[in-house]
Amino acid sequence: MALLQISEPGESTLPHQHRLAVGIDLGTTNSLVATVRHGFPTVLSDEDARALVPSVVHYAPDATTVGYAAKALQTNDPRNTIASVKRLMGRGFVDARALPDAGYCLVDTPGMVSVKTAQGVKSPVEVSADILKFLHARATASLGDELVGAVITVPAYFDEAQRQATKDAAQLAGLNVLRLLNEPTAAAIAYGLDNADNIAKEGVFAVYDLGGGTFDVSILKLSKGVFEVLSTHGDTALGGDDFDHRVYCWILEQANLIGLHANLSTQDVRLLQSKSRWAKEHLTTNGVVSIRATLSDEHQVNLMLSQAQFFEMTKTLVDKTIGVLDEALAQAHVSSSDLQGVVMVGGATRMVHVQRAVAAHVACPVLNDLDPDQVVALGAAMQANLLAGNRSDDDWLLLDVIPLSLGVETMGGLTEKIIPRNSTLPLARAQEFTTFKDGQTAMALHVVQGERELVSECRSLARFELRGIPPMVAGAARVRVTYQVDADGLLTVSAREINSGVSAEITVKPSYGLSDNDIAKMLTDGNSHAKDDMQARAWREVLVDAQRIVLAVNSAISEDGELLTEDERSDLLKHIKIIDDLIQANDVSQADALRAASDGLAHASEEFAARRMDKAIAHALAGQSIDTL
Ligand code: ADP
Ligand code: MG
Repeated sequence: MALLQISEPGESTLPHQHRLAVGIDLGTTNSLVATVRHGFPTVLSDEDARALVPSVVHYAPDATTVGYAAKALQTNDPRNTIASVKRLMGRGFVDARALPDAGYCLVDTPGMVSVKTAQGVKSPVEVSADILKFLHARATASLGDELVGAVITVPAYFDEAQRQATKDAAQLAGLNVLRLLNEPTAAAIAYGLDNADNIAKEGVFAVYDLGGGTFDVSILKLSKGVFEVLSTHGDTALGGDDFDHRVYCWILEQANLIGLHANLSTQDVRLLQSKSRWAKEHLTTNGVVSIRATLSDEHQVNLMLSQAQFFEMTKTLVDKTIGVLDEALAQAHVSSSDLQGVVMVGGATRMVHVQRAVAAHVACPVLNDLDPDQVVALGAAMQANLLAGNRSDDDWLLLDVIPLSLGVETMGGLTEKIIPRNSTLPLARAQEFTTFKDGQTAMALHVVQGERELVSECRSLARFELRGIPPMVAGAARVRVTYQVDADGLLTVSAREINSGVSAEITVKPSYGLSDNDIAKMLTDGNSHAKDDMQARAWREVLVDAQRIVLAVNSAISEDGELLTEDERSDLLKHIKIIDDLIQANDVSQADALRAASDGLAHASEEFAARRMDKAIAHALAGQSIDTL
């Protein structure tokens, strides 16, 4: 018999209101939506109990199809079937064209690349929005339409443009984004690394995420229940698909189709590709699989592939992932013996030899008991549940990381880093700058991203101007430049002259178009050019100083030249000439010589400066205010 519940007088009879929120893993290959029900995170499935939604959208003139149904149309209508759209998010046409051919037609549209479909030109944001709408509909079908909002996951290396594009897509899909969350952080949450009994509450974890087309490693540090991303590293062109491709090539070879390859129809290629994927997935649980196919010219493929053969042909891919893991550890300045655990994420980590290779490489537990396809969505659901206001006692704070340093251009085309790469979000950092010239009333601020010392080698994010600075002598204005990055990784830059209070601000709507490979390249360039950059930087710094002194002495000569003897004047001009010649030669290895020359000019003009000061004082004593001089 059920007991009737009676409420306290004055208390609501309604049960504790649970606010509904979902977590969404918007993946390159597959997407999922999950929620927390009765305190437990669960994925939401379709009528056939399938949780995964292939991230594929098909556009017919009058209908949009998403998921398995769209994937089924891919072979027959590749031009209108958009897969892996995540790779195009926030990308320009040139970057997108460099990606492997996806079978559909890319269009060069301003800002971000687009795709031509039977429904007209679609931007990656719109295509992603269609996937999100599908997941949104699944959520409301099972939860009702009182959805408070969603947490959507993004790769930790996503830059501002890619994050903004993801948010735009969610908005188009009618979702309220509670926040964007880094995928590895979501996986760590799903494993409850902070409150698991068997694992220390402090420690460093690696998240190893091998998806369909991408591979990422993130090193997370957990202390006092707070996750911090120490580093992220990856390969944007390495994933389960590459394993399929090795099998595909093996089939062509074994079935004597190599010579015929050029003649294979698109249909045959797709058929063999899907057989390859099928074989790979089945070799996870079977020692051997048989691969059979009938090609359009009646050619028969009939092959047996063993697990051992498969491991052998894909060993180099696995080795590559281990190399990336080591590099991520090195970037985070931790060694593999510091690791408390490795979290396995992504469908491709099911492969037995991947599991083995990781386990053999580290001395800590390999965490793989949650479904690797679902773990990101489950963690996102837990975070969404918290943000929707269903907090429990053991809630946690989350810290994410920015992938590239953010800086400002200073005199001489140098980058001053305001926020170093891998800083945790959200955060704000400020630095003071001053004017270069007397009477300067405006300042051009140039916001850049990257690791290089020279602005020309970094990526330009935005430019804006601070105007209305009261005229002052060079160096007297105090301009405070603040960089603020919110929890979603979006940047706002503000500048304020402290004496006068004039200010200007810009929210960086970064120009779309930085690819993951660009990020990787900017990072490696930063490392490999570190020495050259230091030299170039040293030169530019001295150069700016030298130019300032020359400017000051020249203007003093033209104002108070009568205070100098002919000899003194020509001595000063000689010093200036030495400096000018060095500047002209522009040899960055001559920074020391330039410094010596400008010190020489400074020294030679000391007496002149003293005389000018005396003259100013004399004027003041004659009844003039020193301010007017
Ligand atoms: P993404 O994060 O890119 O959306 P997923 O995490 O969904 O990708 O991983 C998709 C990849 O996982 C595909 O390459 C798929 O073939 C692979 N995969 C799924 N199940 C298995 C399995 N049982 N064995 C091996 N690979 C698998
Ligand atoms: Mg994924």
